[in-house]
Amino acid sequence: MIRLLLSLTFFASLSLNAFASEAPEKSSLSFNQLLRSMSAAYEAPPVPNVEEPVPAIEKALENDPRFWITVAAATKEERTRLLELGLSIEEVTPTAVSGIIHRDSLPAFETKSVNVISRMPLSQFAVSAFKDFPSQDAAYHNYREMYDRLKALETANSDIVSLFSIGKTVENREIWTLRINSSAKGTKPSSKPGAVFQGAHHAREHLSVEVPLLFAVWLLENRNNAEVKKFITTLDIYIQPMINPDGAEYDISTGKYKWWRKNMSVNSGSQGVDLNRNYDSWWCQAGASNSPWADTYCGPAAFSEPESRAVRDFVKARPNLKTMISYHTYGELILYPWGGKYEDIPDQNDLKVFKNIAQGMARLTGYTAQKSSDLYAATGDSCDWAYAEAGIFAFTFELTPKGGWGGGGTFYPGAGVIEKSVRDNVQAALYLLRNTGDPRKAAAE
Ligand SMILES: [Zn+2]
Repeated sequence: MIRLLLSLTFFASLSLNAFASEAPEKSSLSFNQLLRSMSAAYEAPPVPNVEEPVPAIEKALENDPRFWITVAAATKEERTRLLELGLSIEEVTPTAVSGIIHRDSLPAFETKSVNVISRMPLSQFAVSAFKDFPSQDAAYHNYREMYDRLKALETANSDIVSLFSIGKTVENREIWTLRINSSAKGTKPSSKPGAVFQGAHHAREHLSVEVPLLFAVWLLENRNNAEVKKFITTLDIYIQPMINPDGAEYDISTGKYKWWRKNMSVNSGSQGVDLNRNYDSWWCQAGASNSPWADTYCGPAAFSEPESRAVRDFVKARPNLKTMISYHTYGELILYPWGGKYEDIPDQNDLKVFKNIAQGMARLTGYTAQKSSDLYAATGDSCDWAYAEAGIFAFTFELTPKGGWGGGGTFYPGAGVIEKSVRDNVQAALYLLRNTGDPRKAAAE
């Protein structure tokens, strides 16, 4: 039984030139100057003139075959099944979920008697859901701006920082990694306990780039602070703000967000693999889709994608890695394994470590800590794999906003959320570093 609530809302005259490149050189700004400049852009939004005629929705989006739908689902098992039917779940309430579905997946919904509460072509939802204006969103770093900032950090801190690529993407972009270590550079091995901060497995989750990138800015600006100094001399710190640069660039390539999630692999008849379903952790079982057009497509095989292979090879080559955060948006959650199974991880001591560190980071951010699969099961994700394969205490962060109906949840919350997200998450990341030397000590907390 399908009930259609097509609300046709037209917004006038929004010139969606998101990410138009800014002329001023921003890479020399301090952490505080940088955050202030990002916030300043937010405080003076241009006011749209609603009297102007409605512009034609851009062709690319007009022809977008995807829908934003809301579906009844009250349990994690029901949510997991929806992922398998190709829905990318973006918002969860106690009784329903919302997310993105390709039109070719909809017939399966009817035959499997899924209760669709509402649906709207993504083109219309995307336009009406913009909370912000493109000039403000220019504060977000695109791929080139991210590289420039990483490079500037390396140049200014060349005694302890090195910048290198862990591999190339489908479209031949480098996956840049900033390393902070007082005694080893580039790919030179280190026996110091290691921590990894990753952003943007998913293309449209742009805030997940800002948080690790600006954490690097903060760390290096505060390198003479006694505690930071200790981290720099005793740890091996890696920051990889954009695991999926092809997708992130594609998402902003027309000046209008494409709501893109996957990488840019070419499938027959469609494009993209969900990188966070492509790791070899119960690959393509619960919560992943076999359909190449689905947002949750797991790919033709585990590690079929150059981006996930680059992360795999990076991790496997560094047995010193102890902790990891993979940043995503959104939901304000801190998730720990398993994601792919409803069960707890078998090692009770490790479970305590995960719970205690997650709780500690939750206190600093106001986010909610929970087992990943309590939300829904999703196999093939990076954190399950990193823990199972390498014993790394790996956490998935779902950043701001909190989401939910009325909560303003969206992938594009505007530049106004950057400052608080970054400041809170600097504290959480420092908390992780405090536990990186010997994570298992946290079991005793
Ligand atoms: Zn994500």
